[in-house]
Amino acid sequence: MKQKKAYTYRFYPTDEQAHILARTFGCCRYAYNWALRARTDAFFQRGERLYYNQLAGMLTELKKQEETAWLSEVSSVPLQQALRHLDTAFRNFFEGRTEYPTFHKKHGAQAATYATNAFSWNGHSLTLAKMKTPLDIHWSRPLPTGCKPSSVTITKDCAHRYFVSILVEEEIKHLPVVNKQVGLDLGLKSMVITSDGHTFGNPKFFAKDEKKLAKAQRRHAKKQKGSKNRRKAQLKVARIHARITDRRRDSQHKLSTEIIRENQVVCVESLHVKNMVQNHKLAKAISDVGWSEFVRQLAYKAEWYGRTLIKIDKFYPSSKRCFDCGHVLDSLTLDIRHWTCPECGVQHDRDINAAKNVLAAGLAVSACGEAVRPGAVKTNPGRSPRSRKAHS
Ligand SMILES: [Zn+2]
Repeated sequence: MKQKKAYTYRFYPTDEQAHILARTFGCCRYAYNWALRARTDAFFQRGERLYYNQLAGMLTELKKQEETAWLSEVSSVPLQQALRHLDTAFRNFFEGRTEYPTFHKKHGAQAATYATNAFSWNGHSLTLAKMKTPLDIHWSRPLPTGCKPSSVTITKDCAHRYFVSILVEEEIKHLPVVNKQVGLDLGLKSMVITSDGHTFGNPKFFAKDEKKLAKAQRRHAKKQKGSKNRRKAQLKVARIHARITDRRRDSQHKLSTEIIRENQVVCVESLHVKNMVQNHKLAKAISDVGWSEFVRQLAYKAEWYGRTLIKIDKFYPSSKRCFDCGHVLDSLTLDIRHWTCPECGVQHDRDINAAKNVLAAGLAVSACGEAVRPGAVKTNPGRSPRSRKAHS
């Protein structure tokens, strides 16, 4: 099965490239914001919906006007792509997946997408439109040999780092079938606990970085507004943020790949269910470990490798239910790590018992035949997360 896969690398632009990119980012942002304004006005003033084709025509007209002629100084392709991104943002909004699109800000992360007619790829180097030299890319892992990139997205994050994300179509082979199924639960001491008793990750992993971040944020707040020192402090905050995000993503990817490789069937509770657990401490732990991102990774990797992910969308007491006899406790506070079932006398590790219940519930859901198909099972299709480009 052919799958689209994005490979992201850091790169280091020359002064000339950085200059061209800065202008391109600025023009893309302008085009996006201008089109968002035009679409919003058209809707509120005339009840009309504007789409890519009309907007692309209007953009060509805009470039002919004297005060916006500078839009022609950069490659036209990223500007058209910005309009396409807006189309996607509106589609996501109309289909109920996201909020109404918002304006792109000058001080946020910047991005520009180049379609095939705006870059050249010779098998080992990548040159963008309007640039004389190829990008100096740090190839942290190889691109599949013989691949033909279908688009290239350049981003500059708030920590002033440049990344290139290369989208390729790739044949991904299903893994050999294994005879193992597992339920996962979110732990407080470990990020993930499996029904067979393995624990992965540690939410405290980032505690040190977070202390540093808090310190940098306090320093930033003390600096005078608009001063050079404040901008410097802001950059420092952004760099620590970026480091935390990178490390978290790396550990989530390692973990989701490992779990998908080792198991044929994986059962999890959806974030929707997790959020129903009205507990402040647990809610913080959930947001810290990024449960929804983790489940998203499991979902697309399951599809790639021919595994089944079962998401449980209905609430049931996975922690309070005794896996062995089915007895349900009245309450189980978070500080209790181990408990003994008053009915059958079995001793439970709180998290492993919960993960076993998740597995049992997931298998029951799939046996009842609710939308079972290879790769993924959704018990409530209306709640599927919006599809995003996949990273391995
Ligand atoms: Zn029991």
